[in-house]
Amino acid sequence: MSTHLLGVEIACDGPAGRDNCPHNAAIRAQFTSRTARQVRADGRRDGWTVHRIPGRLLDICPRCRNHTTEGPTL
Ligand SMILES: [Zn+2]
Repeated sequence: MSTHLLGVEIACDGPAGRDNCPHNAAIRAQFTSRTARQVRADGRRDGWTVHRIPGRLLDICPRCRNHTTEGPTL
């Protein structure tokens, strides 16, 4: 346990959900955002989306979102 909470970093899972993001994107979280839920809320403001697949969530940055087709393709 640390006295400093560094928060979470949410990084893009890439356009296919399997590869690392070609842009190496991560959500720019607000200073006050410390939980994954809060950081994702920050990301949504910047155009991030979350894809729910069995077992996990995929975080997609705005650039990758533009490269994916509508609907789940997994
Ligand atoms: Zn991305």
